[in-house]
Amino acid sequence: MADKQRYIGIDLGGTNIKAALVNTDTGEINATHSLPTNGRGGHDAVIAQMAKLVDEIITESGRTKDDVGGIGVGLPGSLDLEKGMTLFLTNLPGHWRNVPVRDQLSKWTNLPVSLINDARAMTLGEYKFGAGRGLDTACFTLGTGIGGGLVINGKLHLGFSGTAGELGHISVDFNGPKCGCGSRGCIEVFASGPAIAARGMKAVVQGHGTLIADLCGGDLNRITPELVCEAAKAGDAIAREIYDFAGMVIGAGWLTSSQRSILVASSLEGV
Ligand SMILES: [Zn+2]
Repeated sequence: MADKQRYIGIDLGGTNIKAALVNTDTGEINATHSLPTNGRGGHDAVIAQMAKLVDEIITESGRTKDDVGGIGVGLPGSLDLEKGMTLFLTNLPGHWRNVPVRDQLSKWTNLPVSLINDARAMTLGEYKFGAGRGLDTACFTLGTGIGGGLVINGKLHLGFSGTAGELGHISVDFNGPKCGCGSRGCIEVFASGPAIAARGMKAVVQGHGTLIADLCGGDLNRITPELVCEAAKAGDAIAREIYDFAGMVIGAGWLTSSQRSILVASSLEGV
């Protein structure tokens, strides 16, 4: 009899599409596989790569399509969850507005497909099988942008149009540096991956005694958030300060957004 506890999770990235065949009850990973995204070919080429990835991972795992309950796709951007379409994807070339990824991938693979924002997917993964197992939690990804997700009362909280946990463009300083979104002082300009790397570079250029300078061997281009993290883990005070600051900014944005929610809720109650 077919085991429908196995699902394929797909992570769409700017460079690679990664997939895993997973038992969603136990978290056991049966197979992993990846292919280049082919982003320059546009959305049809990318969805075709996803379909190819699905075929290949099933073959490699020695199973058949009958063993698979469906496909969940994590996408880097905003989505129309009801229609199964993309609204806006970051880091992918071409036009991604109103692309029916769910229906097209389902047609090409003959399997049910669900879409979710990638940061929400990560949050759910951490809640079910990772660092936040069984706990109500907030997860944040500090990449080029800042993504996030919330688990409340044991359920992934999607919120209005699936955007709950998106903190990147909440302003914590109305006179702060300009952000790509047009606003000022967004969390993203202080705590994203590039912001963390930039603070590391600044510390080296200003001649602060920091392990970051040793780790990059004097080459500023080698300073990444990972390198700053390595220095912080080794106890470097400057690197720790950079991550403490990022944490503080995220915390402040979190408070701002929850206070806003309370204000909105109370004003609605007063109507
Ligand atoms: Zn912004």
